Amino acid sequence: MSGRFAIIADIHANLTALEAVLEAVGGVDGVWCLGDIVGYGPQPNECAARVAGFSGPTIRGNHDLGATGLTSLDRFNPYAKDACRWTSKALSGEALDFLTGLPNPSDAIKKTLLVHGSPRDPFWEYVLTLGQAEDVFASTDERFVFVGHSHIPFIFSFSDGRVKLEKLSEGKNVLSEGARYLINPGSVGQPRDKDPRSSFMILDRGDYSIDYRRVPYSISTVQAGIIDAGLPGFLAERLALGE
Ligand code: ZN
Repeated sequence: MSGRFAIIADIHANLTALEAVLEAVGGVDGVWCLGDIVGYGPQPNECAARVAGFSGPTIRGNHDLGATGLTSLDRFNPYAKDACRWTSKALSGEALDFLTGLPNPSDAIKKTLLVHGSPRDPFWEYVLTLGQAEDVFASTDERFVFVGHSHIPFIFSFSDGRVKLEKLSEGKNVLSEGARYLINPGSVGQPRDKDPRSSFMILDRGDYSIDYRRVPYSISTVQAGIIDAGLPGFLAERLALGE
C-alpha cells in the first residue's frame, strides 16, 4: 500500500482543531484515526460526523467507550468523568451508532497496526518509555504500530534487536527501510507536550518518511465553547498550556 496517509489521534471533540488539521493535511490517500474522537471538548457530534466521512480505518479510544456507556467510568479522573457524562448526554443517535461500531485495535493492514493504548492494553496503557516500547515490539511483528492516548508525539524504532527513541523534527523525518516503528502522532484536540498547537503526522509509504506537523487553531473559540457547554473550566485552561 504505497501512498500518503494522515495519522491523527485524540481529537477530543475539538472541531476547531480538527478542521485546522484537515486543512493542513491537504490531499492524501487516507486519514487514519487512533481514537478518543470525543470527550473533554464541546463538539462531539460534529467531530464524529467528520471522522465518519474518512475512508478509515478509525479505531476507538477509552473516552469513546466511556461516553457511549461501553465501560464503567471508574478508571477516569474526575475531569474526564464529568466530560464523559456530559458527552453521553450530548451525543446524537447517529454519533452513538458510529462510535459504538468502531473496532480497537484495527485489523492489521499491510503490516500496520492501529491501537489507542497498546497491543496488550488497547484502551488504558500510556506507552511512553523505552521499556514499554520494547514490550510493544516484542508483542507484535507488524512493521508499524501507531498508538495515541498519551497525547505525546514520538517515534521509536526497532532494528538489529535494539529499540531507540528517534529525534523528532517538525517536517520530514526519513525512516529506515529495515526498521520497525512505534509511532504516536500526538493529539489534535488536546496536546500535552507543552506545545498547544494541534499535532499530526503524514506517513509516506513511497519515499518512506513521516511528516510531523504542528498547526495553530483558535484556542479561544474552543475555550468559549467549553465554558458555554458547562464543562469544567480546567478543560478550557489546559488547551492554552498544551498540557
Ligand atoms: Zn485522549
